[in-house]
Amino acid sequence: MSPDEERNIKRIHALRGIVVGRWFLIFGLAILGIVQMIVGIAIVSLTPVMLGLLVSIPVFYNFIYTVYLYRFSDRLSYKQLALLSFLQVLVDQIVFTFIIFVTGGVESIGFILYFFPMLSATILYSDLRIISFTIVTIFWYTSMVVLEFNGVIPHFARYFYDPGFFENAEVTLANTISIDLILLFTGLFSVFVNRIIRDRELEITIERDKVRSILNSLEDGIIMLDARKHVLLMNPPARDILRFYGEVFGPEIRKEDFPRAFGKLIQSIREQPETKRLDQEVVVEEGQNNNVIQVDTIPIYAADGSIVSWVKVLHDITRDKELDEIKSDFISVAAHQLRTPLAALKWFFKLMIEGDAGSVTEKQQNLMEKAYVRTNEVIEIVNNLLDISEIEEGRFPYEFAEGDIIEAIGATLLSARQDGSQKNVSVEFEHSDKLPLTEMDSQKMRMAIQNLVDNAVKYSRKNSSVKIRAEIKNNRLFVSIGDQGIGIANDEQAKIFSKFFRGRNAKEYEPTGSGLGLYIVKNVVQRHRGQIWFESEVNKGTTFFLSLPIPRKYLPPKK
Ligand code: ADP
Repeated sequence: MSPDEERNIKRIHALRGIVVGRWFLIFGLAILGIVQMIVGIAIVSLTPVMLGLLVSIPVFYNFIYTVYLYRFSDRLSYKQLALLSFLQVLVDQIVFTFIIFVTGGVESIGFILYFFPMLSATILYSDLRIISFTIVTIFWYTSMVVLEFNGVIPHFARYFYDPGFFENAEVTLANTISIDLILLFTGLFSVFVNRIIRDRELEITIERDKVRSILNSLEDGIIMLDARKHVLLMNPPARDILRFYGEVFGPEIRKEDFPRAFGKLIQSIREQPETKRLDQEVVVEEGQNNNVIQVDTIPIYAADGSIVSWVKVLHDITRDKELDEIKSDFISVAAHQLRTPLAALKWFFKLMIEGDAGSVTEKQQNLMEKAYVRTNEVIEIVNNLLDISEIEEGRFPYEFAEGDIIEAIGATLLSARQDGSQKNVSVEFEHSDKLPLTEMDSQKMRMAIQNLVDNAVKYSRKNSSVKIRAEIKNNRLFVSIGDQGIGIANDEQAKIFSKFFRGRNAKEYEPTGSGLGLYIVKNVVQRHRGQIWFESEVNKGTTFFLSLPIPRKYLPPKK
């Protein structure tokens, strides 16, 4: 919206406000007139015909304003609006002078009506013009009194008992000067009020422009919606993403206004969750192109805790996704290619260690054993990489069947204890006598637990212990694996389940490792509809927790 358009819209809003206000005023005056006629002692001349006439004049011109401002507002030029504003004030002044004239002239208290056009002028104009309109008002009033006093126009008695004040020069003079001064002071006061209003407006405009320029300079699309899903704000990147350049202040954001491909995106923009935040990824299919847009929703709260609006942050992650895919493909191909030669290498070392290729010296034997162990480690990493690419492609195969968590944990203990014995780390497993069976992929669960137990041993300090517990709580299986090892630094805790992430202290303490294990573990746990989390303190130790649901049929019957 250009500044000119904005100025016009503001003018139209102000003028509409005045017109609506005038309807109320007319209604009030009509009621007052009727009451006067029934019970009043004042305004002798007020007959039903007269009242009808008086009311119909403002009704007539206010009707014309209303039609213009509500029907043809989009066709009104700035000049026409300026004329309309001018008339709004001037016509009221003239008509109200007439009303004052027929309701007693200088004896009438109708001059109070002048405050209405003065208010209109305060809203529409500033300093000099407000004063000019005030002087014009004073002119109308004084002229009427002078003409009446000199008998040029008739006098309408205000009271049944007519004291004839209008003929008395002193009374007329005193009255007129007082009222003119009241009008003048009101005009001056209006100038101050107007200044306060304008200052506030300016402050708001500056704030708004600041916010607007920040929003416009962001790369992400920002859309703000109120509870009726009306758009309060939409920055240029959001318009680019939605290919939407129409008017957005006011109307509800609806699917029908956008190309079909944007249906899902609009739907997620329209969603207004009560929860803290909601992050969604939406694919927009446009011909050959698939764009992936991340839609983050942030509710905005009022002071009383209720949600007043929702901010939608639109982030085009198409490129990130493509890069991710390329990386995954690369990893997958590389791992596949490495697996066969590595398996062969391992096999050759094994043959040589076992003496199938002839006798070797003790030193050679020693080196080959080390090479065999290292090759095994590399194979382990390659297997992890393959698992990860399968997870990412959604091909990681799961076979769920009845399984026993105690058995799965038990199967990991032997090798963990062997590794632990080298550092004098004991591995203890505690569990309730009998735990219910549950639905699981036993092999994958074993692999996940093995990973956690191996980590616990690997990152344990010498002469310490690893404690594993399994129990049933609130109809879920809980497994905890605690160690007294190096711990995880606070600033790294959020990244611990990411691919390839290794803690600083972990790298120092145990240089070998790929940072892939926990990523796979998390995936396995999630596929079992379980949760995984941990508590850790540097140099004190770490405990990982698993919680797994148990299908109802495996739960012990309630007592
Ligand atoms: P890796 O052990 O091969 O580095 P993981 O994915 O299994 O990879 O673990 C990722 C990181 O999490 C580790 O590098 C380490 O920083 C941290 N971590 C995992 N388990 C523990 C633990 N029991 N104690 C301390 N740090 C741990």
